[in-house]
Amino acid sequence: MKRRKAWPMPTLLAIPVLLVLAGAAGLYIYRNYFRPIGRWAYFSEIHTSRQIFERYALQPGLRCGEAPFAFPTTGVILGLWDESYRLGHRHSGVDIFSGTQPGVTPIYAVYPGYLTRQADWKSTVIIRIPSDPLQPGRQIWTYYTHLADQQGQSFVSEAFPPDTHEVYVEAGTFLGYMGNYSGDPAAPTGLHLHFSVVKDDDGEFLNELDIRNTYDPSPYFGLVLNHRQNAEEIPVCAGEATFEPWELHHDGP
Ligand SMILES: [Zn+2]
Repeated sequence: MKRRKAWPMPTLLAIPVLLVLAGAAGLYIYRNYFRPIGRWAYFSEIHTSRQIFERYALQPGLRCGEAPFAFPTTGVILGLWDESYRLGHRHSGVDIFSGTQPGVTPIYAVYPGYLTRQADWKSTVIIRIPSDPLQPGRQIWTYYTHLADQQGQSFVSEAFPPDTHEVYVEAGTFLGYMGNYSGDPAAPTGLHLHFSVVKDDDGEFLNELDIRNTYDPSPYFGLVLNHRQNAEEIPVCAGEATFEPWELHHDGP
């Protein structure tokens, strides 16, 4: 009978090491890309429980400490800046969920500036801030999107029709209602506001889909909105919260 050749010793030792490495890699991928992490575990509850929603929801005009921006709407922040929604993706802003219906929850300007809505923008406005309150002299832009329904019926305020350019708005100006338009009527987003702080290039805003063209919104709101610094928690104001005397708009139909 022929004897089976034994595995050489170094190969045998490598097997448990490889198993541990594969396990660690699997855990890393699961934790970062598949497991509903901390705050996302509340996704269904904020839509079904008024109590849970109100525990975590921030209100329009809320200013956290001395932060320059006040909060734009009523909702719970679940998606943070530099969070990954799928392999290779880095989220360029924050996603705020109102738990209502499309066209109901008002959205307001977080800071004064000059509003533009390009001719083909159904669901988006951008507001130019000539001097960044955190770095005076630097121009930045604030970007608000998903202000339309699934079909692309716009919820942007009638004060800002398509092809609006450089209209001055105060902080607290009503911009429109929260929607779920994704660009594809067959695949709407969940109802939310996507907000980002966009970099300027020689007087023009850069493409905000690329995170490198945006700033971490955390210091602008006084909230921990950077996923790398807050992987689990729903952001809430840790310090003193005050409210701007904004004239709040009625809810949509
Ligand atoms: Zn988003």
